Amino acid sequence: MAQVIVENLYKSFPPQGKNQAKEGAPVNVLKAINLEIADGEFMVLVGPSGCGKSTLLRLIAGLETVTGGQIYIGDRRVNDLPPKARDIAMVFQSYALYPHLSVYDNIAFGLRRMPDRENSQTADKLPRWVGDSLRGITKPLPKSLHYLSAQEKVLAQRVSQVAQQLQIDHLLDRLPKQLSGGQKQRVALGRAIARNPQVFLMDEPLSNLDAKLRAETRSQIVQIQRQLGITTIYVTHDQTEAMTMGDRIAVLNQGVIQQIAPPLTLYNQPANRFVGEFIGSPP
Ligand code: ADP
Ligand code: MG
Repeated sequence: MAQVIVENLYKSFPPQGKNQAKEGAPVNVLKAINLEIADGEFMVLVGPSGCGKSTLLRLIAGLETVTGGQIYIGDRRVNDLPPKARDIAMVFQSYALYPHLSVYDNIAFGLRRMPDRENSQTADKLPRWVGDSLRGITKPLPKSLHYLSAQEKVLAQRVSQVAQQLQIDHLLDRLPKQLSGGQKQRVALGRAIARNPQVFLMDEPLSNLDAKLRAETRSQIVQIQRQLGITTIYVTHDQTEAMTMGDRIAVLNQGVIQQIAPPLTLYNQPANRFVGEFIGSPP
């Protein structure tokens, strides 16, 4: 896994609207953001709607270009790398699964699009997403895999490993419509982690769920994150999610980080009035 470092990051967008096109100032969405997320840490980024959370996540993912500053993932500066080369997995609000694909194929989807696995037979040539646990495997493959190509065998091993981790290995043949809401969430997480990413980026993944499922899934996500030890940045506008899920919480308002602290510190010693009121600390 990897640490993530954001250094003095700025993002502005061109001015909006017809009349502003000539004289309007650029919209400064993020200002002087500094963040260090430790290897394996669960960092929650919280703040009101429109404060710049998604933009920050999209910059880290490489879906937007930075206006100024640096982003490091592990020991690599990633500013100029495309999303695919950043070793990240991103989970969005919708959590959409492919309705016509089985659970197996939904999880395998991201792996099938990997370039050129045809020659990846020997351990040192295996792609990184296979993970260390599969390198040097000597025991025979399950019988059901005998008729698959070498490439499909590697893929099937990985899908089965991920499905076991998420306790959905009994559901691999089902279609999404045959799953409960919680099971669908797990499949979506499985698809995201199948490539063994270094960093997990989640943008309000629970906001479309009803209250009960949201509470359940909250603890599932934390449990899975702990189990995998995967460095995670989790965006939400929900104080309860922030307080119950994060190792630390970064509070963002109007593009500026107000405070970064563990939940209890934030609650007991808010750095300013905004943080206190947003978190709901006693006055
Ligand atoms: P949040 O996720 O915290 O709700 P966003 O990061 O989505 O906030 O948006 C922050 C601000 O940046 C908003 O004012 C939004 O209108 C603006 N913004 C986001 N993306 C763009 C864009 N592509 N072009 C112009 N403005 C944008
Ligand atoms: Mg957002």
